[in-house]
Amino acid sequence: LPPAERVGFAVVGLGRLSLEEILPAFGECKRARPVALVSGSPEKARLVAAQHGIKPEAVYGYADFDRIAENREIQAVYIILPNGLHRDYVLRAAKARKHVLCEKPMATSTAEAREMTAACDAAGVRLMVAYRCQYEPYNREVIRLVRSGELGAVRFIEATNTQTMGTADQWRFRKALAGGGALPDIGLYCLNSARALLGEEPVEVFARITNPKDDPRYREVEESISFMLRFPSGAIANCASSYGAHESKDLRVRLEKGWIDLENAFAYEGQQMRLAHREGKTEAVESVRLSRENQFALEIDHMAACVAQGRTPHTPGSEGVQDHQVMEAIYRSAETGAPVSL
Ligand code: NDP
Repeated sequence: LPPAERVGFAVVGLGRLSLEEILPAFGECKRARPVALVSGSPEKARLVAAQHGIKPEAVYGYADFDRIAENREIQAVYIILPNGLHRDYVLRAAKARKHVLCEKPMATSTAEAREMTAACDAAGVRLMVAYRCQYEPYNREVIRLVRSGELGAVRFIEATNTQTMGTADQWRFRKALAGGGALPDIGLYCLNSARALLGEEPVEVFARITNPKDDPRYREVEESISFMLRFPSGAIANCASSYGAHESKDLRVRLEKGWIDLENAFAYEGQQMRLAHREGKTEAVESVRLSRENQFALEIDHMAACVAQGRTPHTPGSEGVQDHQVMEAIYRSAETGAPVSL
């Protein structure tokens, strides 16, 4: 679409994800364009606006955020703030009658997430949670293949999302701003992916948390968490996430008649897919190659298409509510040491 016909987005919060991934990704979008910025740092925002062809008068601060209502070029906002601020800004965006794309995790609790979906419904605006992996071609192919039934029933899913973190001065270590530690930040990909693969909701969870002793970073939030999800079909997902283990972001599915490995499943790039299936007495193992596309651009274009066509996004607010509900059960299990039914 020519720029004037694309859906105009206001990017809210100019941190690492915005500057390094989202704003560059707009350059690869076909249906969306950035038309406004919201930031607490006016000088940075002015500079970024100039770099992306955004009008200086379309740069807002948090205090005058509500003025976006008057800017008709803004059809949607993309909330890329610390998790603890998502609720407030989604509510304010809905009040300004703008459609909302909100970063994951959607909020810091199920209650907040519910408030956000209710506010957007009441205002008649679309709400999408930015589960980028659900727009990434390899993850989509794994979901398609599993759901097609070609490889039979799923027995096990194994999903890992680990990385190491920097110093203690980040909002990610503060419960009020982050909502939790590794679980809502990166373990969420394991959970969301298991649900998406199976198209089912877990009925039982069991979890353990491990924190290093005397590390000031882990006074409020968890470092490492392992959780098991049991699904109605009998499939079990074993998930592990940590802020204290060398980076690995892999997804493995074990099915009756084959297996699928997706290396770097939850990474920004570098997905590698291998697949094995049995035919009679022989087993075939193959590498699957798909064209590489920017998953952030695909995700943003999806939201733009939904706004333009009045459609419900593939990952609407209700997806976020469901993940928060399961995460709360996971924390409850870790706290009590017992399985929790859902
Ligand atoms: P950063 O800390 O890099 O950026 C957050 C930005 O929010 C800041 O730069 C600042 O922007 C603004 N902000 C406003 N109030 C505060 C505050 N009290 N403390 C800190 N920052 C504040 O975070 P990220 O960009 O890494 O993460 C932002 C969101 O994106 C989170 O929800 C995170 O979970 C999500 N995310 C998603 C990823 C994905 O792959 N989908 C990857 C990384 C993050 P300004 O100076 O402009 O006001």
